[in-house]
Amino acid sequence: MTFRAPGATAVFAALVMPTAALAQDARVPTIPDAIHDMNRERPPVVNPGPALPSAPAPSDAIVLFDGRDLSEWKSRNGLPARWKVENGYMEVISGSGGISTARQFGDCQLHIEWASPAPPSDKGQDRGNSGVFLMGMYEVQVLDSHGNDTYPDGQAAAIYGQYPPLVNVSRPPGEWQSYDIIFRRPRFSASGALLEPARITVLHNGVVVHNSVALTGPSGHRARPAYRQHPDRLSISLQDHASPVRFRNIWIRDLER
Ligand code: MG
Repeated sequence: MTFRAPGATAVFAALVMPTAALAQDARVPTIPDAIHDMNRERPPVVNPGPALPSAPAPSDAIVLFDGRDLSEWKSRNGLPARWKVENGYMEVISGSGGISTARQFGDCQLHIEWASPAPPSDKGQDRGNSGVFLMGMYEVQVLDSHGNDTYPDGQAAAIYGQYPPLVNVSRPPGEWQSYDIIFRRPRFSASGALLEPARITVLHNGVVVHNSVALTGPSGHRARPAYRQHPDRLSISLQDHASPVRFRNIWIRDLER
């Protein structure tokens, strides 16, 4: 047998090139499951235990809602937010549109408490639907998922359209629930190439439901859009999905100050 350098080079290239391409693509994970697949495995149900007192804001947190007013929030058109405020909570006014923080954030630790309507009405995605949108585009789903089946990548605490929660820690409708979200924004090069996907860790009622997962891109309905370059700081939004979901005790720690 004769050793032929060109052939060896070709073999070497064939072995190395796909690996290099894979490393490039590996920054953005691929989810094997189809989006909103009803056949996807349901996360196990976990009882979070008795309700604890509302988590107080640490001294270095920015309080985004203390139960009194919506001064830290605006509607999508930049006008004052029109959701109802009473008894220490804010409530979605159906049709008024989502609301966004007046301040903008990148990497952050966000605490937010919510309650879905009781008694519940409707089912599936129409039962207590809202959402927490980091940077206005990466959604942690809010839904009544206490005995309410839906596609797992759209149940409570799902990264909408991407990842079901590891477990379902939902409390019954009307009871206060918490999300503690640690978010790392995506990194882009000056030319707009993705250097690092967004990462998110979420605790639902104190239980880890996402452990530093890399997002495939912004959230979408029936779509997993690719990343597109955006500013390092953007508003956080809460969704009006025509359900009178309530929120209270919202605070954030800015991890890029
Ligand atoms: Mg939603």
